[in-house]
Amino acid sequence: MPMSPAFKKRLSLILPKIVTTFGTPFHIYDETGICDNCDFLNTTFSPVEGFKEYFAVKALPNPSIMAVLREKGFGFDCSSVPELSLARRTGATGEDIMFTSNNTSLDQFRQAMDHGGSILNLDDISLISKLPRVPELISFRYNPGPERSGNHIIGNPVEAKYGVSHNQIHKAYETAIQMGVKRFGIHTMLASNELNHTYMIDTADMLLEIITELYKKFAVCFEFINIGGGLGIPYTPKDHPFDLTAMARGIIGSLERFRAKNRWTPRLYMESGRYITGPHGVLVTRVINHKHIYRDYVGVDASMSALMRPGLYGAYHHVHVHGKESLPASGPVDVVGALCENNDKFAVQRLLPKTCEGDILVIHDTGAHGHSMGFNYNGHLRPKELMLKKDGSVALIRRAETMADYFATLNFEPRIMPVP
Ligand SMILES: *Cc1c(COP(=O)(O)O)cnc(C)c1O
Repeated sequence: MPMSPAFKKRLSLILPKIVTTFGTPFHIYDETGICDNCDFLNTTFSPVEGFKEYFAVKALPNPSIMAVLREKGFGFDCSSVPELSLARRTGATGEDIMFTSNNTSLDQFRQAMDHGGSILNLDDISLISKLPRVPELISFRYNPGPERSGNHIIGNPVEAKYGVSHNQIHKAYETAIQMGVKRFGIHTMLASNELNHTYMIDTADMLLEIITELYKKFAVCFEFINIGGGLGIPYTPKDHPFDLTAMARGIIGSLERFRAKNRWTPRLYMESGRYITGPHGVLVTRVINHKHIYRDYVGVDASMSALMRPGLYGAYHHVHVHGKESLPASGPVDVVGALCENNDKFAVQRLLPKTCEGDILVIHDTGAHGHSMGFNYNGHLRPKELMLKKDGSVALIRRAETMADYFATLNFEPRIMPVP
């Protein structure tokens, strides 16, 4: 079931008023739903001592949302300097922040280690000797290669550019030990939007096996295993929700067996993005045109600049027409934006009730990897973001981009390198 039903109910009551107040298009996020979900996650994993979620900032990099998550005790997983800066602006410092970057530059490492620091998740064995200084705590991102299958979005681990390979992982930690690193963690991120909880349990087991080997070989205990993000959400009406309780039960069992064998356990860290905020955001857009050629098109006032996933991955996002939920579907339509890109479609051959110009369309599950993935191709500007607050008020938490933003990078001191 896409979009949380409670959010849909809360939103539907006041949607016309929000539309007249702020104008379309916009993403709107449900503070109540996000808070309840954070509580559910924390409660479900509370039997695991030291459990911590590091929210993947790229999913929803909005300071107002991040402040809510921080209040729930979450840390942040960042992969760029601006993301680090966002995390630090919420007050997070040091080990509340993971820096999980790929193809990282020296300057990025400096930024990650200075200004209060962060936990470094090194993406390659070669990076340890490039760090500006030896950190106290190191984690490597592990890529198991052919030992595991990935999934559609993130790809087969063998072809994925991420992580340290199976053959290198022992050497990576050996090098770190020789360099004087004292504290250790291990990280992996294999799947994306995975609805099968056993996959995540297998991932935890895989990391526990590796750290058992490393413990035997080098006599080092690991402070944490970080199983990454990738927990899925039901985008289509046929999808079942991810069974977080079963996942927790499985991992708790694995950790207990680990403790029985080794007499210590690592903490469990996770860095979900989509699962935390995905179902608690929607894109609201208005119908502005209809077109009937070889197919029937419903043109809306949002475009790919607001939501890339359908165009980029062929992803399904459920759509409902506000106030017409109980009307029968008419023929299939493509719901399209205004870009000169034929994949600028929010829905393809979708059965929707007959729409009129001015109707409000709600595109579900845009609370993660929605606004943040938007781009400016074709001069299309990104829309505003709103938050439906717990008290029922609605706050603007990011304004829409303007022409001035679009032209901002053309405002510079002229520079010319003369003919050499
Ligand atoms: C994108 C990403 C995540 C979050 O993925 P979700 O599918 O949103 O859970 C977590 N960790 C890393 C390293 C990522 O790149």
